[in-house]
Amino acid sequence: MKRIAVLGGGPAGAFAAERLAAAGLETTLLDDRLAWEKPCGGGVTYKAYSRYPFLLRNDAPKRLVTQTVLSAPRVGAATLSLRQPLVIYSRYDLNRMMLERAERAGARIEKARVHEATRTSDGWRLTTSGGTLETDFCIAATGARNALRNLGTQWTPSDTMYALGYYVPAEQEHIDIQFLPALEGYIWVFPRCGDLSVGICGKGVPAPVLRAQLEAFMEERGISWKGAEFYGHLLPSLETSAWRNNRVAGQGWMAVGDAGGLVDPVTGEGLYYALRSADLASQVVLSETQAPAEKPRAYRALLMRDFIVDLAFGAGLAKRLFLGRLLFRSVPQRMIQLMRSSPRFSSLMQDLFAGTQNYLTLKSRLLRNLHGTLLETVLDFLLSRTVLPSEGPL
Ligand SMILES: Cc1cc2nc3c(=O)[nH]c(=O)nc-3n(C[C@H](O)[C@H](O)[C@H](O)COP(=O)(O)OP(=O)(O)OC[C@H]3O[C@@H](n4cnc5c(N)ncnc54)[C@H](O)[C@@H]3O)c2cc1C
Repeated sequence: MKRIAVLGGGPAGAFAAERLAAAGLETTLLDDRLAWEKPCGGGVTYKAYSRYPFLLRNDAPKRLVTQTVLSAPRVGAATLSLRQPLVIYSRYDLNRMMLERAERAGARIEKARVHEATRTSDGWRLTTSGGTLETDFCIAATGARNALRNLGTQWTPSDTMYALGYYVPAEQEHIDIQFLPALEGYIWVFPRCGDLSVGICGKGVPAPVLRAQLEAFMEERGISWKGAEFYGHLLPSLETSAWRNNRVAGQGWMAVGDAGGLVDPVTGEGLYYALRSADLASQVVLSETQAPAEKPRAYRALLMRDFIVDLAFGAGLAKRLFLGRLLFRSVPQRMIQLMRSSPRFSSLMQDLFAGTQNYLTLKSRLLRNLHGTLLETVLDFLLSRTVLPSEGPL
């Protein structure tokens, strides 16, 4: 394998191209849009920038946000002061920064759409809007709307959700997360440089219904969408069974990022997994100990060990987290009440936000802290209702 074609120049493709070109492979990245404002919240977690510090240390405009307010109907709000900020980018800036890194590493960047990828005896022939290209190996990084049927994940409609929103020219310092009754998803308000990304994602809900729910929320909060730019896109959200059979690689190709369905099914975080899968795919491509025929299996095994087992478990949790009920309230309502009363529970939520608490060990941590959390809740209940002598009437 000498010539590599990376199809798609979002974060997954740009990072794979950077890694492969830096190792000396003849790498061509093709994308008909290159740097563009891909619909996205643009939130980069601590998990992502602690593993890939260039996501924090670069000249691209970004916001670092440390306050998050979570709300649900009838229980009000709880504020989290994040120990590690969420870094928020406009996707145009993030994509541009990452494509420049790929180019500096030696990748050839071509503004072209790939219409067809045809297997040949010793590689691939790509038909693109710029002509044809022969290559030995393909990295499919074409995102959630991948139209190349022979490459990437094969999902059913139940393995995706719709996400849409507005870029509103306004300012705010904190992040808002709003849960809604019977919605397997949430509304977010992310402050970016110069505007707010106000959006909603929800599984199994048609886009017009999501849009109406978002606009009702915006009206209630006094956020005007008149004149604001609308966005919408697919978000992979694989069910547990789909993770088991997910097609992430085959002879002569590997899929990275959304093209492989590699998104957290609970939070919708995809940027970390785009970079992580690009990193792992590059390691397998560059490995000299595996024969080409072994590489698809090696990549799948690496992904499994690294994060797929956790995300598949998360897919099972998602419904219970968003739609479950606990003592006559919804789980999100109970979460908000616990965040207000229990520092231990708040700390767990912080770690979920930072991406440092995985789903596999969530239950055991909850059980380990159960006594402490209940004790804190009872104390909070008692103290908030106790009139201390100094506060009473003189
Ligand atoms: C509304 C919304 C909000 C989100 N918010 C967040 C968030 O806050 N944080 C987070 O971590 N994740 C978020 N995500 C998920 C995140 O956007 C994706 O996981 C991430 O963009 C995946 O990167 P990627 O490189 O795999 O794909 P993409 O970013 O989609 O890039 C794919 C690229 O391939 C190109 N392409 C497609 N087909 C072809 C072709 N045939 N030929 C050539 N080029 C092609 C496209 O032009 C595009 O540039 C959000 C998603 C949505 C929809």
